[in-house]
Amino acid sequence: MEKRIFNFSAGPAILPEEVLLQAQKDFFTLPGVGMSILEISHRSKTFDAIHASAKDGLKKLLGISDDYHILFLQGGASLQFSMVPMNLMPPVNKADYIVTGTWSKKAVKEAKRVGTVNIAASTEAENFTRIPAQSELKLDPEAAYVHFTSNNTIFGTQFHTEPEVGSVPLICDASSDILHKKIDVSKYAMIYAGAQKNIGPSGVVLTIIRKDMLERSPESLHTMLNYKTHAENDSLYNTPNTFGIYIIDLVAKYLLSIGGLDAMYELNKKKAGLLYKCIDESSGFFKGHATTDSRSLMNITFRLPSEELEKKLISEATAAGFDGLKGHRSVGGLRASIYNAFPLKGVEELVSFMNDFMRKNG
Ligand SMILES: *Cc1c(COP(=O)(O)O)cnc(C)c1O
Repeated sequence: MEKRIFNFSAGPAILPEEVLLQAQKDFFTLPGVGMSILEISHRSKTFDAIHASAKDGLKKLLGISDDYHILFLQGGASLQFSMVPMNLMPPVNKADYIVTGTWSKKAVKEAKRVGTVNIAASTEAENFTRIPAQSELKLDPEAAYVHFTSNNTIFGTQFHTEPEVGSVPLICDASSDILHKKIDVSKYAMIYAGAQKNIGPSGVVLTIIRKDMLERSPESLHTMLNYKTHAENDSLYNTPNTFGIYIIDLVAKYLLSIGGLDAMYELNKKKAGLLYKCIDESSGFFKGHATTDSRSLMNITFRLPSEELEKKLISEATAAGFDGLKGHRSVGGLRASIYNAFPLKGVEELVSFMNDFMRKNG
């Protein structure tokens, strides 16, 4: 088998080797089926079992109660930016948005087409280096909901606890940190996540929505844009991304096999801790973008003393088998995306590479 390199891509991103190997094993024919996952009906018994198992795995991992629907939709997290306000902003037609990066801004842009958006807080003036404190939030108790982005993939910041929003429904874009630790789903009215960062391939978005929220969806909405359609048809109104759901099922099984999300969280803290330690002990050679208390465990963003050195490090790192370290243009510098599936060994090797680079160039 060909050697795999260390993949720091922000998304689509690395998947567990165990999952890839299982998918490879089953790819030509699913055991006992004689057909591949790509070739079977989404209404077959085989697919039913895979779909049910994926939902069951997510339920176990996150402790999701029967008060919620687990939906697998399409159009990415980006379509959720529209579906959330179209379905859930009525009848009051105003909502609170906490703006902590590019993705939250995009969510705001779509929400404004539906109703009034109150920016409850924004850290844009500081180039999104931090998550706003609870005391900074200007919340409207009559808002239809509060929307936030739990992990800011581009800037490398992360909420470590949910914002306190009283009795207003809380909605979260968790695309880049879903399943990185156990959360209390009962605090949320809805959580959505494009699969391609932490739980599967692109082309499928996971939406966990509290059943009572469906009452808000206006009948006038187009069928495919209405959450009720997807809930009533168990994500099978139209043909879902069957392969994506199959991979999510394998990822959930893998996470359960390693001890669930508490074990995953310990490993994620350890991995990110090694990189932040390297940054903090570099006497300013590496400079983190995020403020210390807002640091992400998933995307570690940092700069070097000059753009020349950044280019040099990226090119030497690529040659040494570390792929995808170039930062997003709005931050510059480097970004190491170390999602759930990224191995500890890869982080250890990157840290040693960075320390070597600093010794030679510092
Ligand atoms: C990647 C990302 C998105 C966009 O996801 P798509 O599936 O490409 O639409 C939205 N929000 C966050 C936080 C992301 O990281």
